[in-house]
Amino acid sequence: MAESALSPLTATADGLCDFVDASPSPFHVCRTAADRLLAAGFTELSESDPWPAVGDHFVVRAGSLIAWRSGGPADAGAFRPFRIVGAHTDSPNLRVKQHPDRFVAGWQVVALQPYGGAWLNSWLDRELGVSGRLSVRAGNAVEHRLVRIDEPLLRVPQLAIHLAEDRKAVELNPQRHVNAVWGVGGGTRSFLGHVADRAGVDAAEVLGFDLMTHDVAPSRRVGADGALVSAPRLDNQATCYAGLQAFLAAAAGGAVTPVLVLFDHEEVGSQSDHGAQSELLLTVLERITLAAGGGREDFLRRLPESMVASGDMAHATHPNYPDRHEPGHLIEVNGGPVLKVQPNLRYATDGRTAAAFALACAQARVPLQRYEHRADLPCGSTIGPMTAARTGIPTVDVGAPQLAMHSAREVMGAQDVADYSAALHAFLSPG
Ligand code: ZN
Repeated sequence: MAESALSPLTATADGLCDFVDASPSPFHVCRTAADRLLAAGFTELSESDPWPAVGDHFVVRAGSLIAWRSGGPADAGAFRPFRIVGAHTDSPNLRVKQHPDRFVAGWQVVALQPYGGAWLNSWLDRELGVSGRLSVRAGNAVEHRLVRIDEPLLRVPQLAIHLAEDRKAVELNPQRHVNAVWGVGGGTRSFLGHVADRAGVDAAEVLGFDLMTHDVAPSRRVGADGALVSAPRLDNQATCYAGLQAFLAAAAGGAVTPVLVLFDHEEVGSQSDHGAQSELLLTVLERITLAAGGGREDFLRRLPESMVASGDMAHATHPNYPDRHEPGHLIEVNGGPVLKVQPNLRYATDGRTAAAFALACAQARVPLQRYEHRADLPCGSTIGPMTAARTGIPTVDVGAPQLAMHSAREVMGAQDVADYSAALHAFLSPG
């Protein structure tokens, strides 16, 4: 097995910016991660093929990816438990409708709709590109091709303040108010034709598509001393990146089998053939065991000692809204990774798994912050509780602090990128 030359310290704020800018859609997150895994000596496997007994491997199912370093049975003949870092590849955004072309009052308009809990106001008056996947006819088969247009192609214009009924509160209707303009004039131009052209395919051969918009402004360090990262999709590409770097640095052949799982569809409930509610992770874990010569009994015996760190972003205390936060649990940007606890199981953390992550932070020599949501506000959730319920593996919910979650543009601490990755690395390399 190839030992990775990378260390968790290679997770940096600038590295995160590069990762995010390379990954405008969940499909591109998988592509970016796959390219880095391949460069580190991993092999991509097909779910339809038999799998090798041991080695460094990954599989991609649409917008989800699972990677692992399997050493097979340890010397004693028993399989090691899994240590799993999980994250999600999708982020809220505006997605292209099947018949997107509209011609309104001399404008050429592209019909969009929100995906997940997009904070709609943040998508207005931004230059937007388009990315995703085209499913293209190739004879009697269909090929799936990634596409991305990083130029400023679309813009969702805000209403002028002078035309608002109520200047204090403009309500955005997801059907009427998030369509984008991309030109003026006659009603013949086809948006899908334009995207197909740019992808180098014949528009008539495009039989299906999954297209979405993204902010084309590059990610960057901001603040007087560059202490912050301003970027789109930090929720949850910051964990995809920090988790990937931690995983690449995790040695094979230790006390555990390290696994990285990046799920699509978290922002819409994870109920799909490759979301966290699917059988994908459980199937892959069983197949890793079977391929290495184990049986179902060996697989089931691995699970109780295994553990998942469900990584997703955490709310830093907002300077303009400190009252929205639990006063006993203020969370600081650049103050270290965050343990997320919610006793009604919006997060999966319990005392056992909290202790495991606290130990990982201590081993990585990074501070740990403990988040509790205000009891009088509804709390978001993560892949943590469903992964725990689906697999029976004890799970801890963790994250890095950020502001403006679900905005088209979010902000986090530059130092937190390295500290978060170091903690995840220690979690993947216990003892
Ligand atoms: Zn998230």
